[in-house]
Amino acid sequence: MDIKTVGVIGAGTMGNGIAHVFAKSGYKVILCDIEQRFLDRGLDTIKKNLEREVAKNKITADLRDTALKSIQPVTDRAALAACDFIVEAASEKLEIKTEIFKDLDRLCRTEVILSSNTSSISITKIAAITKRPDKVIGMHFFNPVPMMKLVEIIRGLATSDETYQTVKALTEKLEKTPVEVNDAPGFVSNRVLMPLINEAIYTVMEGVATPQAVDEVFRLGMAHPMGPLALADFIGLDVCLDIMRVMLDGLGDPKYRPCPLLIKMVDAGWLGKKSGRGFYQY
Ligand code: NAD
Repeated sequence: MDIKTVGVIGAGTMGNGIAHVFAKSGYKVILCDIEQRFLDRGLDTIKKNLEREVAKNKITADLRDTALKSIQPVTDRAALAACDFIVEAASEKLEIKTEIFKDLDRLCRTEVILSSNTSSISITKIAAITKRPDKVIGMHFFNPVPMMKLVEIIRGLATSDETYQTVKALTEKLEKTPVEVNDAPGFVSNRVLMPLINEAIYTVMEGVATPQAVDEVFRLGMAHPMGPLALADFIGLDVCLDIMRVMLDGLGDPKYRPCPLLIKMVDAGWLGKKSGRGFYQY
């Protein structure tokens, strides 16, 4: 099937970046969120990020304008019936994704592939909610989406080869690099990254070092561009907690137990960069 119109669900940190890269690559994008203010915020970010690319001579002002015009913001999910491909990037909660995929399965043409940008939730489980499990797949982008080259492509148990090949080719059209992995809690990226972030939070909770010192160890000693706590703030501490909980639940090993300080900070509404406060102030 020729993919021309792409539906993106969720206009948050990831959804606006995903809409940005599809629009820049010539696709028509229907961007859906639950409230107009979330769409406005997402579109505002897309505008600023495209502007930055123009300033750096990465794209022309014409391409910026065309890309912006090709994004249609909607709060009514029924508009997604016109889409040839879907990327779901709503909040990392199984009950939210369950409701969305049930509805998408009803709304979208039977040949349409439904992908999820989930960081950790089972693609096999999401697929089983639908009547098209062979056409459900994980398309896991990285933050900030316009800059990061990797897309982790996750095959659920029932995902067909045809679906995988279509999403691989689509990823390459976005000038990104697909890496194929099988379905397991946290996949590869978060299975390895989140325990590192969680352990870094334990060192702060136990008074071993300040967040600044922990991050400096990783930047200067391991050549990480960003320390684990700055990265956690950037990802969103609520997202990190959700991922740890999915891994604890799915893998059943206590080594995935979320650090009490992470839970406390999320309870306080200190979610990192997006809320203005996390391990650092923004
Ligand atoms: P976010 O909180 O920034 O944005 C989520 C958006 O989804 C919000 O705007 C919210 O209003 C919207 N939403 C919630 N329920 C919805 C519904 N029923 N219909 C439409 N929109 C709905 O979260 P995020 O960081 O963008 O994460 C989105 C997804 O991407 C999650 O599954 C997350 O695990 C994954 N992810 C996040 C990162 C990251 O670095 N933050 C990286 C890779 C993947």
